[in-house]
Amino acid sequence: MHSKTRFQAMTDQIETASEMDAEDSLRSFRDLFAVPVGGDGNELIYFTGNSLGLMPKKTPEYIAQDLRDWEKLGVEGHLHAKNPWLPYHEFVTEPMARVVGALPIEVVAMNSLTVNLHLMMVSFYRPTRERYKIIIEKGAFPSDQYAIESQIRFHAHNAEGVTTNYSWPLSERSAGGDAENQTPGYSWPLEEKSPTAATLIELMPRPGESTLHTEDILETIEREGDHVALILLGGVNYYTGQAFDMKAITEAGHKKGCVVGFDCAHAAGNLELKLHDWDVDFAAWCSYKYLNAGPGGIAGIFVHERHARSFDLPRFAGWWGHEKETRFLMGPEFKPLAGAEGWQISNPPIFQLAALRASLEIFDQAGTSNLRAKSEKLTGYLQFLLDQIGDDRISVITPREPSHRGCQLSIRVKNADKSLFEKIATRGVFADWREPDVIRVAPAPMYNSFDDVYRFTEILADCLE
Ligand SMILES: *Cc1c(COP(=O)(O)O)cnc(C)c1O
Repeated sequence: MHSKTRFQAMTDQIETASEMDAEDSLRSFRDLFAVPVGGDGNELIYFTGNSLGLMPKKTPEYIAQDLRDWEKLGVEGHLHAKNPWLPYHEFVTEPMARVVGALPIEVVAMNSLTVNLHLMMVSFYRPTRERYKIIIEKGAFPSDQYAIESQIRFHAHNAEGVTTNYSWPLSERSAGGDAENQTPGYSWPLEEKSPTAATLIELMPRPGESTLHTEDILETIEREGDHVALILLGGVNYYTGQAFDMKAITEAGHKKGCVVGFDCAHAAGNLELKLHDWDVDFAAWCSYKYLNAGPGGIAGIFVHERHARSFDLPRFAGWWGHEKETRFLMGPEFKPLAGAEGWQISNPPIFQLAALRASLEIFDQAGTSNLRAKSEKLTGYLQFLLDQIGDDRISVITPREPSHRGCQLSIRVKNADKSLFEKIATRGVFADWREPDVIRVAPAPMYNSFDDVYRFTEILADCLE
């Protein structure tokens, strides 16, 4: 064994990780998950639940059940499978609503995340001549940036000066709209700038800082709000791990007449969300990160109850969003379901729903507030140990206040030295490197232990020695 490092000497004083694990009321949940093991048969340190959550051990059986039903019943499985396929998406509605703090009518599982962001923007990004801007984080997840920019171009004049789309309520019945501002074929108030540049307001950290101040976000909303059609931020930023004050941002946005939506990819299953109470207009998230529903898992949306019957909103329609009672009459007129279900297009992938169902049952057993309470301790412990290492080659850019972060810490490495990341990876740590210079580590309260955190920092300190 190597001699005692500075790090070990300092942490000798603190309550040991094994004591903290012994006190952890959620410690048995780890046994419900398949934790990858190394060549020596020992469990590795899995801190990439922010990228792909671990597989619940019961998931294969949930999928196998539907395979057996398909084998035996063929098409009859739609009605006679053990868990009938026709209403299958409804089985995950309530548990998913609990995970994000929503009413059942406000959520549905469908599609993938970026697809759902597009579908949400079709309905909720409705630029007018006066109000067309979108507030986003600078450095938002690339897929979100691409989606948002392509929506802007979709609404703007194309290169030949032809309007490709315009936005206003479909029917003229909806009086009260500002008709003057909803002229079809309007051009953007831009002569030289590209539609994207003229439209996007990107929130940027103060000089020399890595994350945003809530007061700066609110000040931007106050200043620009009259021209802002949509505020669309991540609930938790994927790179910095910063959690935004969704309640305050929604309130400020609404005060200025903006629609407010959140991408909760890094927030669902991580923070304790209250999307309904916070009055958020819409949200979307994937289920393969903290929600452990497997690669490419079926995603979720939230549409606030007050939009449940806004049938005038433009939306892209398909038969699965049609009223259930009359769906199979196959009539020519689309009658959307009330609530989030009305945004469905296709019949959903059952095997993915089976995996999501297996996972959400475990969330119900654990409880989101218990998970969050453990998460604050677990990540707090990680922060504490990183402080003990006290090496100026690494610094945490994630906010220190627990209310401003989820479980992830983003560790900036001096001089963008990726070799540190490569070293810890060969020592059995699952973390990830995000260009230009960050190692992301996400101890997930569902299956990670205080021992994982301790062993991780020990390896990191060792690799820095
Ligand atoms: C993970 C993630 C995505 C991924 O999008 P998919 O459509 O699921 O491939 C998009 N946006 C954010 C913010 C993410 O964290």
